[in-house]
Amino acid sequence: MLKLIHLRAGYGPIDVLKDIHLEVKQNEIVTLIGANGAGKSTTLLTITGMLPLRQGQILWHDQPLDKLASHEIVQHGICLAPEGRHIFPRLTVEENLLIGSYQKSKKRDAKKLEKIFNYFPLLKERYHQLGGTLSGGEQQMLAIGRALMGEPQLLMLDEPSLGLAPLIVEKIFQIIQEINQAGVSVLLIEQNANQALKIAHRGYVLANGQSLKWFWPRALHCEEVRQAYLT
Ligand code: ATP
Repeated sequence: MLKLIHLRAGYGPIDVLKDIHLEVKQNEIVTLIGANGAGKSTTLLTITGMLPLRQGQILWHDQPLDKLASHEIVQHGICLAPEGRHIFPRLTVEENLLIGSYQKSKKRDAKKLEKIFNYFPLLKERYHQLGGTLSGGEQQMLAIGRALMGEPQLLMLDEPSLGLAPLIVEKIFQIIQEINQAGVSVLLIEQNANQALKIAHRGYVLANGQSLKWFWPRALHCEEVRQAYLT
């Protein structure tokens, strides 16, 4: 589905990503792990079109994606739940979710909301509550729910475990698996390598923003992975 080939991107004079290769296939959960500042979020920002591609290719179903604007990329079925959630604190849960829906069809929105409430019943209970009054875990659910309102074929998640208690992380990762089992591919960015390895089918290590190696998570001990991406 998604292929990054020789991808180069960065900020100002700095190329944070120099030569990235990555592939996400249909129905896969692929994880991208790496140390602080390795360039994981930069990779996602480049895929979403928010950061320009400097060199290389981003292919989506074998078609180039990099000439499209961010909103068109969402319409092609690629949706992001960003690091830090970025929900709208003064809007209700309902309003936050509807912002993720680009087709304005009440009937279709109602169906999508029902699906999201199946994954996250708590969001139904909090439907009229302001986003800013939700707990961290609930805000993460809302950010994932908002991304699902775009009906993604590929759901990209940037650090969904960040700052959350272990039990909530377990729950959210279990739901990510359920979303995947319903036919949505997932590109999961995580510093919490242990957690990501539990659910990923395949993974890549991002080291110094320069190179990526894929690995089969279950075939490796986490200590080896840690050593690989910290060296
Ligand atoms: P973390 O796990 O800490 O979020 P990351 O792997 O996601 O890290 P990025 O956020 O992609 O890393 O950052 C990669 C590098 O790019 C870092 O050195 C960071 O300081 C730099 N960087 C990120 N955003 C910008 C920006 N807007 N302008 C300049 N440099 C930036």
